[in-house]
Amino acid sequence: MENPLSHNSIETNIDQKLDEVKLRALQMNVVKGILNEIELILKRQEAKESNQNDTDYLQDLRKALDESSIIVQSLPEFRMLISKTIGKIDANNIEHVVAHENAHANIVQSEGAHFLGYRLLVVKDDASDSFLYRPGVIYDIPKDWDVERRQKAYINILSAPKDYGDRLSRSDQERLDRLNK
Ligand SMILES: [Zn+2]
Repeated sequence: MENPLSHNSIETNIDQKLDEVKLRALQMNVVKGILNEIELILKRQEAKESNQNDTDYLQDLRKALDESSIIVQSLPEFRMLISKTIGKIDANNIEHVVAHENAHANIVQSEGAHFLGYRLLVVKDDASDSFLYRPGVIYDIPKDWDVERRQKAYINILSAPKDYGDRLSRSDQERLDRLNK
């Protein structure tokens, strides 16, 4: 569904969000640490070895990533966000990135999981004195689904871009390999 906001108001809004997130963007080594911790907890959860501490910690880790991200709900906003960041480096890449993440989002919805938005994680790279951008989709798979259904949903969501004729990102492929093990 197209957003009823005008192109100009979307642009002003995205510019403002980008300025704000750059002030609080996390450093690369911090982000890597957080992503590792998240993977470890998810693995423990899938193996049913996690406890309430893990659940609380996971929430804190995700909140930290959200603080270093811009999260939008609509495709026009996401496209604007990509054109202002990743698209500045590679103009041909804008529609490709948007289509890739939209493929994940469509399958989140068709699987009956909860789509929570499109994310652009903004990472500060002190070494090059610049920012790195990592696009993604945020979603939640209902906790009351049984392991088999959760697993099937994860696999379908991760491999979604392939069904649309695209290739998977490295992180998609790594997660899929772990799930298929
Ligand atoms: Zn992907």
